[in-house]
Amino acid sequence: MPPPDKTCASCGRRIEWRAKWERNWDAVRYCSDACRRRRVGPADRDLEERITSMLDARASSATICPSDVARAVSSDESEWRALMEPVRRAARRLVAAGEVEITQGGRVVDPSTAKGPIRIRRRRQG
Ligand SMILES: [Zn+2]
Repeated sequence: MPPPDKTCASCGRRIEWRAKWERNWDAVRYCSDACRRRRVGPADRDLEERITSMLDARASSATICPSDVARAVSSDESEWRALMEPVRRAARRLVAAGEVEITQGGRVVDPSTAKGPIRIRRRRQG
């Protein structure tokens, strides 16, 4: 039986177990070579901070859009647009950490497979 899923430390997506990892599954941290090369740097941690502090500044039920976070970093359109995917990665890492939920149309979705616009909110208990 394959071991339970784990989450990529870089993109926050679920890592599907593969037979080639049988011997070192415990050491697997990234879903792909691209994610291993990319890792998670100070700028990525900063995006996580911005997401949680932005949510803390709003009502507990409030949601934010990744673009709210990206635009808080830079008002330059090409710069904030380039940050959209890094913000989504940060949001997925926060889901894995149990901090936030990702929603579409008001419903919590699987961050590994969600396509299209997402919103981010504080994780709700229960
Ligand atoms: Zn990954």
